[in-house]
Amino acid sequence: MLVLMQDWPLLCHRVIDHAATHHANRMVVSRSVEGPTHTTNYAGIRARALKVAQRLDRDGIRLGDRVATLAWNTWRHLEAWYGIMGVGAIYHTVNPRLFADQIVWIINHAEDRIVLTDLTFVPLLEKLADKLPTVERYIVLTDAAHMPPTALRNAVAYETWIAEADGDFAWKSFDENTAAGMCYTSGTTGNPKGVVYSHRSNILLALTANEPDAFGLSSRDIVMPVVPLFHANGWSIAFSAPIAGASLVMPGMKLDGASIHEMLTAYRVSCTAAVPTIWLMLLQHLEATGGALPYLKRVVIGGSACPRAMAQKFENIYGVQVIHAWGMTEMSPLGSLCTLKPEYASLTGDAKLDVLVKQGHPPFMIEMKIEDDAGRRLPWDGKSSGRLMVRGPTVARAYYKDDSDILDAEGFFDTGDVATMDPYGYMQITDRSKDVIKSGGEWISSIELENLAVGHPKVAEAAVIGVRHPKWDERPLLVLVMKKGESIGKNDILDYMRGKVANWWIPDDVVFVDEIPHTATGKIQKTTLRERFKDYRLPTA
Ligand code: ADP
Repeated sequence: MLVLMQDWPLLCHRVIDHAATHHANRMVVSRSVEGPTHTTNYAGIRARALKVAQRLDRDGIRLGDRVATLAWNTWRHLEAWYGIMGVGAIYHTVNPRLFADQIVWIINHAEDRIVLTDLTFVPLLEKLADKLPTVERYIVLTDAAHMPPTALRNAVAYETWIAEADGDFAWKSFDENTAAGMCYTSGTTGNPKGVVYSHRSNILLALTANEPDAFGLSSRDIVMPVVPLFHANGWSIAFSAPIAGASLVMPGMKLDGASIHEMLTAYRVSCTAAVPTIWLMLLQHLEATGGALPYLKRVVIGGSACPRAMAQKFENIYGVQVIHAWGMTEMSPLGSLCTLKPEYASLTGDAKLDVLVKQGHPPFMIEMKIEDDAGRRLPWDGKSSGRLMVRGPTVARAYYKDDSDILDAEGFFDTGDVATMDPYGYMQITDRSKDVIKSGGEWISSIELENLAVGHPKVAEAAVIGVRHPKWDERPLLVLVMKKGESIGKNDILDYMRGKVANWWIPDDVVFVDEIPHTATGKIQKTTLRERFKDYRLPTA
């Protein structure tokens, strides 16, 4: 029997229609790239997104065409997303922190027809434009007064461009499985890989993100996505906030501790999300200035493991709930969130922190399993660690223009992460499969050691890599960046770590560096570190 319910395709422009109808006045505040703060609301975002769609349509952009954005989180970027999707085209967020060669490769691979760029990236694009034959037009996200002289092909100021449209336009309609967005993984090895989101997958994920055991957004929330829209689909916030009718605060390009604190306080932000590096800068700023977080209720921390000391400070000093989250570009990107189920809800102190540093439990629509190298399922005992595999309607089944089969026989995608699952379904990442340290046939978790080391009050950042050892195959080397003006001896830090992990996990040596290299999405670049220390002679060797 066929259903008698309405056929209502899950299309992303319905999200902004809903927000503009039922939460029309909810503010969208941005720190503009030009400097001043800009305020609009969902009705305003929708009105201008319609102009974007109309204008793209007039420029000949059609269903399935790719439109790139190189832009910070501002109202213009949000309007552009909805305008692009509303004409049936695909927003392709390009991460401007990638190497120039990778940016060229990605834009060519996606065959982007138009590039919308912030002022910040005009000089970069001018250097690359010769190598971008598919791009017909560059739209600079600014007004005529701030438009720089540029030789970029058909360049126009965004405000001038949309002023040529009156907004009298109807969103295009198509199947919910139509591509809506595209994001490339940074590809620490090999070329970047293109992940393509559908209208349907974006909406399903946004509904998931809004569950009480996820971001838990409501129309009473004021959300600041510090995580850029160009990082893993902006963690869904461009969809989940308007679905919930939550206000948005867009931080623009200033992501240092003082600027973030200013936005959090001035606009009474209740929920925010970013990678640990951002929160490290915020906490350092608060410690230096004696600042507080009187309005913030929840902080989502993901992209890399949330260090224990970070969770402890947010929860115990600043009274902010930590929601540790895990995911990846291929998962739209949310895979799990760490909120407390009844089994853990009454925990306090260290026992609670033990749970908060786990990556959490998957929401509905994400299925997980862990497997050993032979493909056997491992028990959920909180100890057995294996390859983490996932499946669901918001998980990629293939990469763009790539025939390789990325799913196993049961349809699970290999995340490349190594994890444990506990009896209550809490997942904890112990490593990337390529970063795990193999010592005497046993595995040592580099992440656990890093988290432990950054718990030392004088340590700013820590990385642990495996270094060749004649007897054990590999042994851990601890690489440390100290906080400004601080120093410690090797034994001080190793003594600090002793007793907190198995003795044979304690690193064989410590090196101090000025800086640890990061990828374009803020993760520690282990490949570069391994290369740098590949001939390092451990004192135990
Ligand atoms: P990229 O690979 O382009 O940097 P992704 O966001 O897709 O960007 O990276 C996904 C990977 O990031 C995951 O597979 C995992 O290794 C790591 N990751 C994400 N969140 C966490 C977390 N909370 N704890 C530990 N690792 C994480």
